[in-house]
Amino acid sequence: KVGRKTYHFYDTEMDEGSEDKFALFQQLHQAVISQQFALYYQPIVDLRSGKTVVVEALLRWPQSDGSMISPDEFIPLAESSGVITELGRWVINEACLFCAALRKSTAPELKVAVNLSVVQFADGKLQQTVESALDNANLPANALELELTESQLLDDKDQIQSQLKSLDELGVSVAIDDFGTGYSNLGYLRHFNARKLKIDRSFVSALTTDADNEEIVKAIITMADSLGLEIVAEGIEDEATLSKLITLGCHAGQGYYWSKPVPGSELSL
Ligand code: C2E
Ligand code: MG
Ligand code: MG
Repeated sequence: KVGRKTYHFYDTEMDEGSEDKFALFQQLHQAVISQQFALYYQPIVDLRSGKTVVVEALLRWPQSDGSMISPDEFIPLAESSGVITELGRWVINEACLFCAALRKSTAPELKVAVNLSVVQFADGKLQQTVESALDNANLPANALELELTESQLLDDKDQIQSQLKSLDELGVSVAIDDFGTGYSNLGYLRHFNARKLKIDRSFVSALTTDADNEEIVKAIITMADSLGLEIVAEGIEDEATLSKLITLGCHAGQGYYWSKPVPGSELSL
C-alpha cells in the first residue's frame, strides 16, 4: 500500500492496478490544474435551536458524462500523489469565499468546515494557506473549522501538533472527524487543540437498533462533555435517531434527515 506521506505515485510496489491508477492520477492532476472540482455543502444543525450553524464543504469531481466521482475514490490517490496539497488549498479558498458571501447575505453567524488530510501538514505551509484564504475572503478566523479524522491523527503527532496549535491561536478551530473509529482516546485530543468531536456515522446509524451501541454513544458524549468539547453526530437520517441523540445530550447533528450535501446555490438555511 502506498502510504499517505509518500509522494511518489509510481513505484515498484504498484501492482496490476497501477496503469489504471496512473491514468486516474493524470486525470486528477489535470482536473486540479483546470479547477474542475466542485464543492457541495451539508448543514450542521444545532439541536437546541434547530438552526444551521456550520456548513461542511465536501469535494466532488464532476465527470463529462454528468456523473460525480466521490471523494472516497479520489482522495486516497490525491494523498499518495501529493496532489491533495494543491487541491486542498483550492478547497480552503473556495469554502472561505462561500461562507463569507453567505455571512453577508442570509447567515451572518455561519461557519464553514473543511476536511483536511494530514498530508497537507507536510510542507509546513498550511497556516499560510489558511491565513491567505481568510484574508482573501475577508472571513474571520473563527468562522473556519478544520476537520481531521481520528485515524489520521494517530500517525504523525509531533509535526501536526505544533501547526494545529498555531492555527488554534489564530482562531481557527479543529474538529475530530469520524470519532470512534480509531483509538477513541479522548486524552490525546487535547494535544491537538480539538474543540469538537464528530461521532462517526456507524455509531449514529445503529443508535436505535443496538443497545450496546447506545452505551458507547452515551459514553462518548459524557466524556466529551466533561472535557468541554462540542459534539456533533454524523449521519442522522431519521426522527427516531434525532430524538435519541437529543435525549443523550448531543449538541449538534448532520445528516440526510436535514439535507444531503448540495451545491452551494441549493443550500437553504
Ligand atoms: P466526512 O468528512 O466524514 O463527511 C461526511 C460524509 O458522510 C459525506 O460523504 C456525506 O455525504 C456523508 N453523509 C452525511 N450525512 C449522511 C447520512 O445521513 N447518511 C449517509 N449514509 N451518509 C451521510 P462524502 O461527501 O462522500 O465524503 C466522504 C469523505 O471524503 C468525507 O467524510 C471526508 O473524509 C472526505 N472528504 C470530502 N471532502 C474532502 C476534502 O475537501 N478534503 C479531504 N481531505 N477529504 C474530503
Ligand atoms: Mg468531515
Ligand atoms: Mg465523518
